[in-house]
Amino acid sequence: MRKKIVAGNWKMNLDYNEGLGLFSEIINMVKDEATGTQEAVICSPFIHLHSLVQLAKGYTKVAVGAQNAHQNESGAYTGEISAKMIKSVGAAYVILGHSERRQYFGETNELLAKKTDTALKNDLRPIFCIGETLQEREANTHFDIIKTQLAEGVFHLDAEQFAKLVLAYEPVWAIGTGVTASSAQAQEIHEFIRKEIAAKYSQEVADATTILYGGSCNPKNAAELFACPDIDGGLIGGASLKSRDFVDILKTFN
Ligand code: PEP
Repeated sequence: MRKKIVAGNWKMNLDYNEGLGLFSEIINMVKDEATGTQEAVICSPFIHLHSLVQLAKGYTKVAVGAQNAHQNESGAYTGEISAKMIKSVGAAYVILGHSERRQYFGETNELLAKKTDTALKNDLRPIFCIGETLQEREANTHFDIIKTQLAEGVFHLDAEQFAKLVLAYEPVWAIGTGVTASSAQAQEIHEFIRKEIAAKYSQEVADATTILYGGSCNPKNAAELFACPDIDGGLIGGASLKSRDFVDILKTFN
């Protein structure tokens, strides 16, 4: 059975001490309160990664991830961080293709395919984000957009590599807006994604793929979303910055 994962995306928030404080609160709560989420992943800014990995030692259900990695192994790319560097501090995951990276940093499907290869080569599990804009949904092109993002971003992988990915469906119109996709809208796309994976690889691969929902997910709406048959957890932005909210979302799977 596929893994139920809830991942927090802190984005460009929290200074070093604030990040360590929040993470400590989360792991203390996770220690004391049972959650049915099989793995909680905190995707922090790079500066926190090493310390969070140290704090997470001994917590088998808590992992740490980055929010981006460069497509090249190393070199003259001032200001960038490589997948190998992220791996070297003990992080396990990296978010790739978040809509904010696509929108503000011009990341294309082609570039993201390279980033995915490099992350996998360095033994990081990509949390690969896909999703349509409001304009694309209104134009009724959302299924085509998802299909293309999958085809150009990750379907070049062989089945063994693909099995290491976590996918996240994040409708851009729902990210940070307070407008959540209805569970019916989210389930419809998740089911479509799983069918695309089955057509490309096999039903077995599709059934084993964890597909997260992201977009204004909070403790109030998580239960309904996560109850959908093809939704295997969430990628949480705003609500991951509050320990109580984030842990309540983890407990949705109880
Ligand atoms: C995100 O940034 O991945 C996200 C889902 O943000 P929010 O939960 O704030 O909409």
